Amino acid sequence: MLGSPHPEWNVRSSEVSMMSKREVTVIGLGPMGRAMANAFLDKGYRVTVWNRTASKADELVAAGAERAATVQDALAAGELVVLSLTDYDAMYAILEPAAGALAGRVLVNLGSDTPERAREAARWAARHGARFLTGGVQASPPQIGQPGASTFYSGPEEVFEAHREALEVLTETNYRGADPGLAALYYQATVGIFWTTVLGWLQALALADAHGVSAGELLPSASSVLAGMPDFMGFYTQRIDAGDFAGDIEKLAMGVASVDHVVQTAKDAGVDTTLPAALLEVFRRGAAAGHADDSATRLVEILKKPAV
Ligand code: NDP
Repeated sequence: MLGSPHPEWNVRSSEVSMMSKREVTVIGLGPMGRAMANAFLDKGYRVTVWNRTASKADELVAAGAERAATVQDALAAGELVVLSLTDYDAMYAILEPAAGALAGRVLVNLGSDTPERAREAARWAARHGARFLTGGVQASPPQIGQPGASTFYSGPEEVFEAHREALEVLTETNYRGADPGLAALYYQATVGIFWTTVLGWLQALALADAHGVSAGELLPSASSVLAGMPDFMGFYTQRIDAGDFAGDIEKLAMGVASVDHVVQTAKDAGVDTTLPAALLEVFRRGAAAGHADDSATRLVEILKKPAV
């Protein structure tokens, strides 16, 4: 078991019911929840569904799902309850009025929110006699039930193991530990990389367009930069974990000049400079803090929460 500094986040395996292996309730039927309910139906699970907008269950009911008339009925249908909602506020809006029906249930919240909100929700569930797993789905709805996609999970390992088989109907599983915030942490950290990369690419497309270069023409070069990132990160990860920011390969001072050229190129082209200017601001702060001769990876120290 992955260690936890918080024993209350684990439960005894004797507390984990082995019943209800082939039945699941899905609450929340946006594109993701509908894909999940369909994946369970495809694998022969008895699927009970509930959604605020009841009509979104129609196709699933036609495909064999049972429509719960009330949230209480949805919770009563079985032990495993998968939540696919916009955020944790939606979970409270749905489940608070039915909190009396939560005892004995395993809530698996696969919606996005923060690590702190996930921890808070695990405590809230425990107060109502329910167990809680946090999930962070790294897949789009069409990838659900297909090989290759993966989901971060965290929460009591025994509870996760008891329901792993059902959860693997949706995607592969990547259990991160007992702390319920960990799945949300891994999810938000990687989503942050994703959106930052997307915006960096869109910035490059805007710049290229200003010079008459199309997205298609830039694609091989843009892809090549990203294809090199695993090697770049692999090399520097070892050094960062060792606290080594030697500027033997590149120096932050060079990075400041480089990013300044990116800003100037954007300005000259008349495209938006918000993104490169934000980069330059962080690079300059690192240099001003005395790290100009270190590797640009020293900026991680600038980005960390300042020590009190
Ligand atoms: P949607 O926003 O389309 O669906 C959200 C669901 O939440 C709907 O069932 C909606 O009900 C319900 N909901 C929202 N607010 C409330 C509320 N106050 N009370 C009751 N129900 C509410 O999201 P998706 O299906 O696309 O995604 C679900 C989760 O999965 C999100 O957290 C998302 O971040 C995550 N995710 C989605 C991916 C995607 O590509 N779609 C990829 C990876 C993760 P109603 O139908 O009545 O509006």
